[in-house]
Amino acid sequence: MKTGIVYLIGAGPGDPSLISVKGLECIRKADVLIYDYLVSADLLREAREGTEVIYVGKKGSVHTLEQEEINQLLVDKAREGRTIVRLKGGDPFVFGRGGEEALFLKQNDVPFEIVPGITAAVAAPAYAGIPVTHRDYTATLGLVTGHEDPTKEVSNINWEKISTGIGTLTFYMGIKNLPKIVENLIKYGRPKDTPVAVIRWGTTPEQQTVVGTLKDIVEKTKDLMPPAITIVGEVVKLREQLNWFESKPLFGKIIAITRSRDQASEFAEQLQERGAKVIEFPTIKTVPPDYLEPMDKAIN
Ligand code: SAH
Repeated sequence: MKTGIVYLIGAGPGDPSLISVKGLECIRKADVLIYDYLVSADLLREAREGTEVIYVGKKGSVHTLEQEEINQLLVDKAREGRTIVRLKGGDPFVFGRGGEEALFLKQNDVPFEIVPGITAAVAAPAYAGIPVTHRDYTATLGLVTGHEDPTKEVSNINWEKISTGIGTLTFYMGIKNLPKIVENLIKYGRPKDTPVAVIRWGTTPEQQTVVGTLKDIVEKTKDLMPPAITIVGEVVKLREQLNWFESKPLFGKIIAITRSRDQASEFAEQLQERGAKVIEFPTIKTVPPDYLEPMDKAIN
């Protein structure tokens, strides 16, 4: 049998409409859809009926499958001659272990394609009104893992160089280690009054942004849970003027729509455009009188 193909796709950061056109087309033609924790459920609904949908995510330290098992699953499914979509949050090659999966596919002669996605360190700040670069503030941008074990004797991160050598620094998976990150940045010369923003669930209606400085951000975010991205640099100040998303009139509101499903979508769209999180909960069914079923007639 001819081996199938694996598409390693970036789903984007949270808002399902931020996936690429190519990514969406691949989901719609997938035979098997293998997805991670941070992928929006709305995107899974785009798969056609009959698609085999498999969750392999990890949340914190809870893994459904180990990485080696995921790699093997991709190869096994492809060898059944099927079209596989491997859907990951953000971009598959940015702290997404997509590189490891692609290498394993290559080693096993399984054809693959990469479909980039919008990564959290760019998208979440954009939705928080923070341009990660701006000519007046910085010419450099760094994407850094915040997940490195702080007790590790030799860090892979050259704190001495990045602390002052890069204008805007972004940290993925850094909430737990934030005290250590801040300590290192200050120790290696970043001024304590450098602005910092921490954005949780960026680009979704649950987005939450905390702004402070290296001095006080740890205290200000002590109750904040993952997933969140941390942005360090002068560009954070621009949020004061550019905070467009969280300023929408219905941002932060959760609205349940009880209208019948056929009426609900347009209404839902309008509410979403104004920033609300919408839950469709049809409690009313509207039908022309001629179509009333016996049961409905009895009730009426
Ligand atoms: N491949 C992904 C990153 C995976 S690592 C990408 O390119 O975005 C997971 C980390 O990404 C989280 O711990 C968090 O730091 C960040 N992240 C992912 N989605 C996020 C979101 N909607 N808001 C804030 N941070 C997010």
